Amino acid sequence: MKEYGNRQQALLESIEGDAYLAVNHEGSDSATIRYLTGFTGEAALLLSKHGAVLLTDSRYTEQAKGETEALPIEEDRGWRLKATAEAISARGLERIVFPSARASFYWVDEMRKFGGFTLVPERDPVAALRRTKSPEEVACLKKAAAIADEAFASLIPELRVGMSEAEAALRLEVLIRETDAEGIAFDVNCSTGANTALNHYNPSLDPRPLVKGDLLLFDFGACYGGYRSDITRTVSVGKPQGRAREIYDIVLRANLAAIEAVRSGKPASEIDAVARDLIAEAGYADFFGHGLGHGIGLEVHEAPGLTPQNNDPLEAGMVATIEPGIYLPGFGGVRIEDDVVVGPNGCEVITGFPKHDLIEVGR
Ligand code: ZN
Ligand code: ZN
Repeated sequence: MKEYGNRQQALLESIEGDAYLAVNHEGSDSATIRYLTGFTGEAALLLSKHGAVLLTDSRYTEQAKGETEALPIEEDRGWRLKATAEAISARGLERIVFPSARASFYWVDEMRKFGGFTLVPERDPVAALRRTKSPEEVACLKKAAAIADEAFASLIPELRVGMSEAEAALRLEVLIRETDAEGIAFDVNCSTGANTALNHYNPSLDPRPLVKGDLLLFDFGACYGGYRSDITRTVSVGKPQGRAREIYDIVLRANLAAIEAVRSGKPASEIDAVARDLIAEAGYADFFGHGLGHGIGLEVHEAPGLTPQNNDPLEAGMVATIEPGIYLPGFGGVRIEDDVVVGPNGCEVITGFPKHDLIEVGR
């Protein structure tokens, strides 16, 4: 496909070397190879002015022919790294750039032993290309967001007092998988009560039941065409108790104010500050510890980071989450997470599940 060829060309123009090498071993770098070729399995990808070559084995050869177009495929029957070193030597390539953020020390060390070429580490050159999305990629992300919205809308009337966090998470996963989604974007995070204050809670370890008066938080997404949505909604099991409504309203205002502030040219850190300052002014500065958001795409966390540290300007075509939260240890937390496409004069919110009220669920 033309888009893959253009991506390969852009990558080669961005690096300081004769070739680029990515190795996907047990999922170590599947996003890079999928982005550059469409192939979703394990392989080494060597790109140079001589063109691209995908080195894979008999488990994947047919799949690779189906997923890629006119991409030379070499089936290796022995050791992947040896075959890769031979492919480099056969093409007379000398300076081979590889993504140090995604490569294992083991494979780099082993490849160096073959000699005849120099491996040049660059952190992650493909990540820089992936920061802004093409219209085709945005279309996949919108579909992934719409699937997540619909699945969550179907889940709401099924939620019952006494149901466990793990059951609710599984049910949401099933609802996502029943669509034409490729799968879930990441393990569904469902937490209730005081567990909602734990950011990366695993509902399967010691599942807590839904109890009246508790907050209930879902962080989830769908994967469509390889692209992942990431959405969080917090609801109340029955009538909200204590400070639940107060912190919900502050987080909602922070979410809306940050979304209002997003536009190309603004430093990412400024968007983070809009939400962070609002939460601080409401007296909860100590209870919002994570960054405001992150890019989404083929991976659920990618550039750009919307953090206090990232002063890079946002660019049109970036797709990122806006996810302020307030977490009160021992009581619970609220996070409201949406996905937005950055434009020149603002942004388009692509997650649509209603958020303007702390809704009551469960019977
Ligand atoms: Zn999330
Ligand atoms: Zn997120």
